[in-house]
This record gives sequence, structure tokens and C-alpha cells, in this order.
Amino acid sequence: MVSFKTIAKLLKFKDLKISGLFFKRENELKLAVKPFKNGCRCPECGRRGKIVRTRPAYREWRDIPCGGRTVWLTYAPREILCPTHGRIEEDLPWAERYSRITYRYEYVMLHHCQNMTQKAAAQLLHVSPSTLSDQLHRCINRIRKGHRIRGLKSVGIDEIAYCKNYKYATLVYDLDRAKVVWVGKGKGRETIDEFFNKQLSDYQKEQITSACCDMSESYMGAITAHCPNATLVLDRFHIVKKLNEAVDEVRKEQWRAADGEQKKALKGLRWLLYRHSSTRKKSDTRTLNALERGNKRIYRAWRLKDEFEQFWKFKASWAAVRFLKRWTSTVMRSRLEPMKRFVATIRKHQDKIVAFIDTDGLTNAVSEGINRIVKIVKNRASGFRHLEAFEDMIFLTVGDLDIPAQIPTKFRTV
Ligand SMILES: [Zn+2]
Repeated sequence: MVSFKTIAKLLKFKDLKISGLFFKRENELKLAVKPFKNGCRCPECGRRGKIVRTRPAYREWRDIPCGGRTVWLTYAPREILCPTHGRIEEDLPWAERYSRITYRYEYVMLHHCQNMTQKAAAQLLHVSPSTLSDQLHRCINRIRKGHRIRGLKSVGIDEIAYCKNYKYATLVYDLDRAKVVWVGKGKGRETIDEFFNKQLSDYQKEQITSACCDMSESYMGAITAHCPNATLVLDRFHIVKKLNEAVDEVRKEQWRAADGEQKKALKGLRWLLYRHSSTRKKSDTRTLNALERGNKRIYRAWRLKDEFEQFWKFKASWAAVRFLKRWTSTVMRSRLEPMKRFVATIRKHQDKIVAFIDTDGLTNAVSEGINRIVKIVKNRASGFRHLEAFEDMIFLTVGDLDIPAQIPTKFRTV
């Protein structure tokens, strides 16, 4: 007969002793356990205390499944007397106080959720997806509790839609570390104000030297109001997007005006026009060049867009300003209304756009890595109904605190 000791070794249990083992139903394994050596300690201060009462009530903790069986640990925790904390339930080495899952389970759960859909993780852990989501939420909340933002110097603010019917969240990035430090509901001024008011001290706000966001008044306003020492940079991606939209506007105008035969020539241009010159194929360039004869207005808009790519390459801001001046006046003479509207925006925010050059190319795209992961997480779950669930996943995958690393080392086995 195999001893319980061997079974504990087999299942890689640490700090606990198995005192009984029984199978329940078809697929459940219950293990009666008790703390090994380290028993009778106060959960608050770790000191040993005298046992006051042995409770008859057994509690159960879910552990990682083994060999296709759901594993439960059962134990009746004792009440002890701590010199400082009085009567208190003893500390249990395998789980957090009040938790109904073991540390090992938590670690595996966090690991799985980082790497696959919650649905798949739930299946591997023998729980329903909603239970998993609850367990995850509680675990992440506990670990992140009391966590403070540290050393924030370059801050990025961006919005993201997290639900099919256009619910928005605001993400705040630490651009130096490429991590998400905060998630808030909505994308208005109240949301971002909440971040600055509740998460940062006045000293921390003064330490922020640069900030990056899109052209939304609420974000820009909040940065100006809260960060006295920050250079505000408009995010490159958002400016390029606006320019692309202007070019597309020109294309649409021409499309509407074209008759059947001309429409044929304009087909398939949309995504071609969006492309950055570096990702264009030779055949694409030929098609675009052919526009010079085909449709002059689209051709001109495209050339202007291509020229604008130069702007991001400047090293000195005076040269960038000179370029911008020349480029914008060319556009103003182009008689392309959507492009002219784009220039109006550029002129209004010129200093914040040129700040890109001064800050050595500060952009939320360092967060492109982050953004990509956030999008993968979102798509993997095909959207989130509640922000909490999305927030959990963001903090778990790209948060500023390494959550799995907060689980005691000896329980970190997958
Ligand atoms: Zn104590």
C-alpha cells in the first residue's frame, strides 16, 4: 500500500500532510489534509498561538485537477489565541485567508488566463466559465489591493471600445515601461479626472514630463490641468488616421461623382490609399501612379499624404516646423476640401504635433505592443460585457504589476 507521504510527493504538495483520501462520485478526489509543521500560526503576524478550539466544520479548497479528477482539499481550521490579535483562525499554508481555492490553483488559473480564452481555461480547471471569471476577479483584486503607481514620467492616455454596443474605457499607460497602470469606465473628462485625482499625488503629477493622447478635448484638457510640467504630444497614430480619413473623403467624393466606367478604375483603392509607403508593393505604386492620368484629385491627395510621412523623420523641431509650413500651404492651394480641413486641425495643434520631434518620438505606439495584446484579449473573449472582466484581463496581461509573480514561489507550478 502506498503511503500518504508518497501521494503528497506525487501530487507535489508542500507544507501539508495528507491524512485521508477518498473518491467521490465519478470524478472527484477529496484529500483530508493538515498543515505540516507550520500549523497554528496567526494569519496576521505569523506567530504561533495556543489552540483554543477545534472547529468541527470542515472547509474545502479547490486544487488543480489531477488525472482528469477534480481535487478538493478538506480541513477543519482551528481557532488559536494570538498574543496580539486575540482569537483568530489559524493561518493555512496552502491558501489565502477566506479563499476557497489554493495558491496552486490560483497560479495555474492566472497562467492559463494569460494564454488562452477563459472558456478554455475553465475547461482545463473543471469549473464553469462564470465561476472562473469570479475566481479570477477576486484573486486579481486581492493581489492588486494597495498597489500604487510608481515612477510615472511619460503617461499615455487612450480610449478603447470593449463591448459591441460602443462602451468605452480609458486606458492609462506608463510609456517608459510599456504597461497599463489604470483602467477607467468611459472616455470623458470625469473619467480621466478620476485617474489624476485618486491615483496620483500632487508630487507624482509634477514628476510627469510628457504625456501623449489623441485630439479629444477631455484628455488634452485633463493633462493641461493636472500635469504642470508635462509636454503634451498628440499621438502620431491618431494624426495619421485623421489624414487617411481626409484622403478617403476625397476618394469618396470622386467615387460619387464617377460614372460606371470611371468607377471601375477607382475600385479597390481604399485600402491602397491607407497604406504606408514602406508597406506598399511595386504593383500598388504602379496603380497609384496610374491615377495621375485616371483621377487627378485622388492622385494629388495621395501624394500629399505620402509627403507627410516625411514629417515624422525630422530630428530638429525647427526643420519639422519649416516642413509643416510648406506642406500645409501646398495643401491649402490644392482645392481638396477634406485635406484643407485636416490642415486646419494641424495648424490648431501645431505645437503639440511638433512636440513629437522634441520628445524624441513619444507616441502611444510604444503601447502598440500593449494595444495589440489588449486587442487580442478582447477579441479572444469576443468582447466583454462588464468592464471588470476586461480590466482583470488587461491587468493580468499588460498591467504594471506582475500578478502571477505575487503568488508564493513554492506554489508556482503549472
Ligand atoms: Zn497575530
